[in-house]
Amino acid sequence: MAKIGFIGLGTMGGPMAQNLVKGGHKVSGFDIDKDLIDNHVKSGGLMAGSSAEAAAENEFVFTMLPTHQHLHEVIFGKHGAATHLSKGSILIDMSTVHPFESDKIRAKLLDKSVIMIDAPIGRTSKEAAEGKSLLMVGANKLELEKTLPLFNLLGDTIIDCGGPGTGARMKIINNYMTTILNVLSAEALTLASSLGIETNTCLSVLNQTPAGRGHLSTTYPAKVLSGDISPAFMIDLALKDLKIGNELAEQLNIPLSLGVIAKEAYLTAQEEGRGKQDWTAIYQSLLERAKITS
Ligand code: NAD
Repeated sequence: MAKIGFIGLGTMGGPMAQNLVKGGHKVSGFDIDKDLIDNHVKSGGLMAGSSAEAAAENEFVFTMLPTHQHLHEVIFGKHGAATHLSKGSILIDMSTVHPFESDKIRAKLLDKSVIMIDAPIGRTSKEAAEGKSLLMVGANKLELEKTLPLFNLLGDTIIDCGGPGTGARMKIINNYMTTILNVLSAEALTLASSLGIETNTCLSVLNQTPAGRGHLSTTYPAKVLSGDISPAFMIDLALKDLKIGNELAEQLNIPLSLGVIAKEAYLTAQEEGRGKQDWTAIYQSLLERAKITS
């Protein structure tokens, strides 16, 4: 049985703390919302009166908070966890925060001989409640090994992202993509509605092409990620199709925005002489412009 502190018992943290309790651990929970502490206690958890109390004498301290400002406050503020974290204890931050802020906190904690692991969560509160989250873990091998039995109570997919700080970075990469895809999905369905295509028809087509299945599991592994940019579908033709979509949006007076932005990436690739390359060479174009050699 591990002695655990858990700070932030909200939508995600509440059920996660409960899963640690169900796993047989002693979990002292703290939240500024007293009702959430009461729920935690009703489910078999212990009550902590402050972040400092949640940290005291515990080997592991979890944080699940809205922003990095909350995280700073909870750790280094008045009655913060840092005052009571024991040397050699592990603080596991599972919040989604700016990775550079996470780095700063990790460095400050290391000065106190406290190890910080970043382990943000993929998937939603539904999976968190079922103990089926995906965890993106940034940790050294030794600390990851120590923490793994607890992580296994929280998720069914634990991904070692490659050392301290990499979990926080991976989470933002994931959310950059999903938040934009959300808007893109809404734009595609809006275009479908305005063209009189049934949503179900639209889904049955899009879910069977790279549009819905995702480039990362279809065209990218087959082409650019295999070092092959000979055209399966060339940039010139992709741009032609994108322009028709943009034109339709204008003619139908629907406010689609991502197509206009994406057009610029294709035009730049054409200017670079990539018109006859595979459309996934957009990735190579971006890498080059970012001056990254892969
Ligand atoms: P939430 O707002 O429901 O929970 C955050 C909790 O932190 C609240 O209960 C709040 O009272 C508590 N809190 C705030 N300041 C505090 C303080 N000083 N001391 C103690 N407790 C404090 O948010 P959530 O949905 O649980 O999300 C938490 C984090 O997880 C966020 O960074 C979010 O982006 C991320 N996340 C959320 C989801 C999701 O589906 N909800 C999925 C993955 C990741």
